[in-house]
Amino acid sequence: MADGAADTTLSDDALRAEVRAWLADNWKGLPPPQAGAGGAMGVPRAEVQAWLAKVRDARWAVPRWPAEWYGRGLSDAQGRIVEREFAAVGAPGTGQDRSNLWANTALAYASPTFKPKIVPRLLAQEVAMCLLYSEPGAGSDLAGIRTRADLTGDHYVVNGQKVWTSGAATADYGMLIARTDWDVPKHKGISFFFLPMKQPGVEVRPLHQITGESHFNEVFITDAICPAENLLGPLNAGWGVLQTALAYERSVMGDGARGPRSGVAESKTEEPLIALAREAGVLGDPLIRQEIARSIAYRRLNAMNNARAKADLAQGTSSSIMSLGKLAMSRILHEEARVRTLILGAGALLEGPDYPRAEDANFLTLNAYFTSIGGGTDQIQRNIIGERVLGLPKEPEVDRDVPFRRVRGNS
Ligand SMILES: Cc1cc2nc3c(=O)[nH]c(=O)nc-3n(C[C@H](O)[C@H](O)[C@H](O)COP(=O)(O)OP(=O)(O)OC[C@H]3O[C@@H](n4cnc5c(N)ncnc54)[C@H](O)[C@@H]3O)c2cc1C
Repeated sequence: MADGAADTTLSDDALRAEVRAWLADNWKGLPPPQAGAGGAMGVPRAEVQAWLAKVRDARWAVPRWPAEWYGRGLSDAQGRIVEREFAAVGAPGTGQDRSNLWANTALAYASPTFKPKIVPRLLAQEVAMCLLYSEPGAGSDLAGIRTRADLTGDHYVVNGQKVWTSGAATADYGMLIARTDWDVPKHKGISFFFLPMKQPGVEVRPLHQITGESHFNEVFITDAICPAENLLGPLNAGWGVLQTALAYERSVMGDGARGPRSGVAESKTEEPLIALAREAGVLGDPLIRQEIARSIAYRRLNAMNNARAKADLAQGTSSSIMSLGKLAMSRILHEEARVRTLILGAGALLEGPDYPRAEDANFLTLNAYFTSIGGGTDQIQRNIIGERVLGLPKEPEVDRDVPFRRVRGNS
């Protein structure tokens, strides 16, 4: 997050007026979504990128960042003023100093030669990204990765296999963790890279998901080349970089998740569960009312907790409270999907475009696992909360202090 000094001379009113005036001059909306490949509807990518580049160059994309990196050194509260003004006119692009996992990680750790090449492009979504963390046998225990990166001249040669890699098929770069020293304990020999994905040594194979989609993939890496300047943070200090990147990922996942996918509009003026119950004629059912009230209370409480976690982070206090948000969001999504199903009753057994409400309920039931597994499972989140927030004894880890090469199966 921003390390530039906050601009204490600028009043909130002056800032609000400045951002409003800029939006009035520049925001003309984006063209309506058009049918693309596979029939999917989307705003043309070039138009989105052009707008984001404009927001970046006007220094509204990351207003909390320092001035030399497209920012304005604003405080967190002032950053929120900018976000509210953008939201009021429906313009995207600001608040990336809170939400852009890739850009924040690069700003904090990229090398002096790589940072100017990558950061501006990330802010305008000119490069697509993926996370090359999980491996077969190293998901929850990420420190057990076996993908290796060996320095040869001015580049690293990377070999190994990754799995569950969301977005790998279209990514230009992957944020990669790889082992660079096998003779030290497992957390101490890992380095963090931006690996170029479009090269012969990187083979991406899609995986079919329970939702019928194929967002994630297996990635086979054979003698792939990674320029030495794409190393983030010091060599063998990748575990620390990873913790920063994971904290961003978890905070984003704690904020929300994908909504229904049927495309049939839901009420914008009413809580979606209330609107659904009204539509289904069961809003008077006391059991359903109780379930809806509980779901809404969970969501509101989580939003307040998230605000508290972000305020802590802005003051430089530990971010471990972020783990609460992701775990809570996982519970909320499972709960809300269950309540949707309850509201629809036997109708939830139907599926397909003729039954959009049932299709949405079923999709959301299955997709809730995205948040309870991706970015660290609920069980791992509970371990983190137990150890770091509640101060419970650490989980035993027999291989923690053993040189990785001597851990069973690695010789
Ligand atoms: C939708 C989705 C998208 C994903 N995207 C990406 C991505 O883009 N890039 C990427 O690298 N990975 C991605 N992942 C992978 C995800 O991070 C891993 O699936 C997750 O970390 C769990 O690892 P695993 O699947 O190997 O399960 P395992 O680690 O084998 O765990 C299996 C079970 O054991 C439990 N368990 C394991 N260790 C412990 C422990 N110490 N204490 C208590 N319980 C434990 C787990 O909670 C789980 O229930 C994605 C996953 C999903 C579902």
